[in-house]
Amino acid sequence: MKDVREQVAQWWGFAEVGVGEYTMTRGYRKAAIISIGNELLNGQTVDTNAAYIAGQLRTIGVPVVGAYSVADEEPAIRRKLALALEEADILLITGGLGPTDDDLTRQAIAGLLGVDLVLQAELLKTLRQFFDCRGVEMPQRNTVQACIPRGAAAIENRMGTAPGIRAEFDGKLLFAMPGVPGEMQHMLDTFVLPELQRFVAGQVIVVRRLRCFGAGESKIAEMIGDAMLRGRNPLVNCTAHAGVITLEIVATAAESGTAEVLAAQQERSLRGLLGDLAYGTGDQTLAEVVGEYLVRTGQSLAVAESCTGGLLASLITDIPGSSRYFTHGWVTYSNHAKNTELQVPMEMIDKQGAVSEQVARAMAQGARRRSGADYAIAITGIAGPGGGSELKPVGLVYIAVDSRDGVDTSRFVFSSDRSSVRLRAAQTAMNILRLKFRI
Ligand code: ATP
Repeated sequence: MKDVREQVAQWWGFAEVGVGEYTMTRGYRKAAIISIGNELLNGQTVDTNAAYIAGQLRTIGVPVVGAYSVADEEPAIRRKLALALEEADILLITGGLGPTDDDLTRQAIAGLLGVDLVLQAELLKTLRQFFDCRGVEMPQRNTVQACIPRGAAAIENRMGTAPGIRAEFDGKLLFAMPGVPGEMQHMLDTFVLPELQRFVAGQVIVVRRLRCFGAGESKIAEMIGDAMLRGRNPLVNCTAHAGVITLEIVATAAESGTAEVLAAQQERSLRGLLGDLAYGTGDQTLAEVVGEYLVRTGQSLAVAESCTGGLLASLITDIPGSSRYFTHGWVTYSNHAKNTELQVPMEMIDKQGAVSEQVARAMAQGARRRSGADYAIAITGIAGPGGGSELKPVGLVYIAVDSRDGVDTSRFVFSSDRSSVRLRAAQTAMNILRLKFRI
């Protein structure tokens, strides 16, 4: 078994690897984001700045290794800057550049660099002009915004009063930008990103997403082995939503061709390991891949729903152009509706119960017969929170698919709240059809 450090070095193509910590002597430049402000820590403000910065960095090939929120306390900010510099080559800081006593970013940067703040006459002039244009006298406390750590440079703020700061530390770059989202975005896009692009020249990120359904996160992680090890290139990240597991492949290389090849190889390898759990790429939904197949083969689909109350029809019709294959959707919530709309025999409902394999099967057959569609899916179940019993617990769902090959019925017990049970049932129904189509 190879030493993990050795493996990491090999993946990243590093020439030398130190002992203890990974000492990567030749590698790609990484960034950390530090958002400053008490409002970010008390639930008042969501840190959308970090999300915006991370998204923009990705477009120029810079991976983000950490994003932190820090209180308006100078020692805390300084400590976090120092820590972040241990893991990143680029620090992007937002907030704390205002004129009030709780705006302490410039002081923290000066403290980190071990320099004092210098009042810059040009900046003061620009600040005064900003207020003059609005016909108001500049408050004395705004003077601090014209102060920049010695040796650092100011970044013009065309949208507000707080200039940004650009500083260098041990060959690493620090950029402090305002907290106001509009000001930060303008400064980042106009001044910071162009310089970063030069700083990281010869570095590209390619991202691919592999969408999976049919197993939980831990099962999928088990199946793909060490693909998700950190520090690897390509990096594989995993997120779960409504039963869909998304594996994000992030490949970094010196040019896009190589990054594309790395990402494609990784995708192939994951597909090989996951088999039919992988159903699509990018943002594709199950309903989308099923819909594409139905269009391609010129076939049609109808649905009959009970506990999902139209959710399955909604997922199907969320896809533009679904009228080419989706013919009918019934919401037969009551026993009477199941009987009159889908000809499910009343005796069957009375004997087996509305949530039963037999009723699901009869619903699917009735829907296909009445619609004339090639496929009909039926769902009946107990979404909860009430209505369960020992034999038929909350979350019990039967899904039937009828086609010219006959009818198949599956039984599931989904756990969680009412809306999750319903969504999981509708998604699973789509997945059953996808597996039937072998896509
Ligand atoms: P500046 O450096 O521009 O003075 P600041 O940190 O002093 O910024 P605040 O006055 O605290 O900014 O906040 C200004 C506005 O920007 C507020 O509406 C605040 O909620 C918002 N804001 C600050 N930081 C963030 C962030 N990281 N994400 C989203 N909104 C933010």
